[in-house]
Amino acid sequence: MGFRSIKEIFRVGHGPSSSHTMGPALACEYILKKYIAIKHVEVTLYDSLALTGKGHLTDYIIDLKLKNIPHQIVFDTKKHYSHPNTMVFNITLSDDSKHNETIVSIGGGSIVTKDNINSLNSEEIYSEKTLGEILNHCDKEGISLVDFILKHEDKDILNYMSYIYEQMEACKARGLSHTSTLPGKLKLTRKAPLMFQQMLSTPGSEHDIHLNMAITAYAVSEENASGGVVVIAPTCGSCGVIPACITYLQKKGYNKYQITRGLLVAGLIGIICKTNASISGAEAGCQAEIGVACAMGAAMISTVKEFSNSDIAQSAEIAIEHSLGLTCDPVDGYVQIPCIERNAVFAIKATTASNLAKVIPATNAKVSFDTSLKVMYQTGKDLNKGYRETSTKGLAKLVQ
Ligand code: SF4
Repeated sequence: MGFRSIKEIFRVGHGPSSSHTMGPALACEYILKKYIAIKHVEVTLYDSLALTGKGHLTDYIIDLKLKNIPHQIVFDTKKHYSHPNTMVFNITLSDDSKHNETIVSIGGGSIVTKDNINSLNSEEIYSEKTLGEILNHCDKEGISLVDFILKHEDKDILNYMSYIYEQMEACKARGLSHTSTLPGKLKLTRKAPLMFQQMLSTPGSEHDIHLNMAITAYAVSEENASGGVVVIAPTCGSCGVIPACITYLQKKGYNKYQITRGLLVAGLIGIICKTNASISGAEAGCQAEIGVACAMGAAMISTVKEFSNSDIAQSAEIAIEHSLGLTCDPVDGYVQIPCIERNAVFAIKATTASNLAKVIPATNAKVSFDTSLKVMYQTGKDLNKGYRETSTKGLAKLVQ
């Protein structure tokens, strides 16, 4: 399989979860478009959607989308499908005919239906199947990864990335201005505005690059946790990593034009991970969400710093390799603990991965990005189900 457009990796939508809110929202829209004269719909949520759907506002979004037709939501934690984010719609039309649709929310706000209506852009526009193949192609042509992407995407891709950059900045600004408690039983206070005020009142701390990154990661992730508008990158739960990496680059003196080009390569890493492995916490744990975001951030930073293609790939490899085994165990099913803090930690880790790639020559590397990605996916499959967005083990079990 080749790759679809990198636009699929960066989308604007409501939090708190791309797979548990945006995917089900899209599924409802698909049903409403396909069937007319609906008398009743029963939506059954399975596995991860059933176990963490309430904390992730899945029922809220389905109620909102189906508000004009009689409907019922069933949480079934007993029956299992091959994909943990499966929903079944049982539809009764006004002529009493019955229809059913099984829809899978595969992560990043994309869905798979039996009509194979997937995501924003389902057409494959890259014929290469791995990052290794892309690097070989670029070597032969003597071009950068950015040039390679520009050759394949629509003419408006840089404008699109510029729009994404602005949306991320706007989300950060909203996160710094809101002071309300986050929704849900945990009653968490938003930390970003407090951290920001503290920084302003502590002379010299505005130069602390990690503090600045953390403030951005918290601001964006807290917006997500409260159901605000965010840019999924590559998921809602991991949406704070790339904006925090942007803050790092801004502090280092890079401009919007340069950062926008870095976003292209971040998107390429994201679509490779989504196609060849997973970006779903329910399928492969947090390594597939925050781990992938970290790899995207590391590749973006290295691109903006004008590293070679192989060093950019090395940055992403280091980030993925050292996110292996990262579990998904959100407390009470809310995208809050450990998610918000984790965005800050892994944004900073992306800078480390990029720095390391500069001093460890890629030519000597024994582990390629594609190999690490394969291991990430296999590790995800091997993870005990309790650590794949079911909120039944780990922090979710011990933290009350
Ligand atoms: S722990 Fe990671 S994968 Fe799980 S909900 Fe939080 S951010 Fe998403």
